[in-house]
Amino acid sequence: MSEKTVLVISAHSADFVWRCGGAIALHQEQGFDVTVVCLSYGERGESAKLWKDEGASLEGVKAARRKEAENAAKALGAHEIEFFDLGDYPLEMDRQGKDRLVDVIRRVQPAFMLSHSLDDPYNTDHPYATRMALECRMIAQAWGHKPGEKVLGAPQLYLFEPHQTEQCGWKPDTILDITEVWDKKRAAIECMEGQQHLWDYYTNVAENRANQFRRNSGGQAGGRAARYAEAFQSIFPRTVDQL
Ligand SMILES: [Zn+2]
Repeated sequence: MSEKTVLVISAHSADFVWRCGGAIALHQEQGFDVTVVCLSYGERGESAKLWKDEGASLEGVKAARRKEAENAAKALGAHEIEFFDLGDYPLEMDRQGKDRLVDVIRRVQPAFMLSHSLDDPYNTDHPYATRMALECRMIAQAWGHKPGEKVLGAPQLYLFEPHQTEQCGWKPDTILDITEVWDKKRAAIECMEGQQHLWDYYTNVAENRANQFRRNSGGQAGGRAARYAEAFQSIFPRTVDQL
């Protein structure tokens, strides 16, 4: 594993694609190894199209969602993808699940982490995943948890974009230019055959965030000509030597 690593914690198996697929592809190209953890397949709540097939079963839907997510991770060049298969709607994590996530966090030792918004009245699995990310980050930092293991430092947790930002109380403070890896993100999006209704929606989101990237990087006074971008809200303060 590379020394520079990233950990994505996704409630369902497609969230990482829409919300931070560009960040995954871009950091892989920059020499980071990105690990994606899908806490569930989103088999019950985010697979309506698959359930409309005659003879659809829970195991069949889960297998289809897993295949889609694996293909998407490959399209993005992600280092690895791991499925916890905890179930969705509702997503629930017991002590064993938390220990498993702490093990992943300590093994990866990410430079930064990515997960969902802190609130989401449409989808309570999303903020639940973020609460688990924060809780397991905390446990991974504790010297008294599995003494002798390498404890975690203080990686930033970036919250990626929810579907309806205002209702989720999500306010971005970081915009990432993903223009050079857009083709990879769009290819990953198109792996999500069960959610075709979102393909163009998240393309539009990326174009709008790019407009804001241009505005915030100098606008008409010389802003960078980004065409696609992703936005994030950070949780922790940055420690800097220069503003
Ligand atoms: Zn989701």
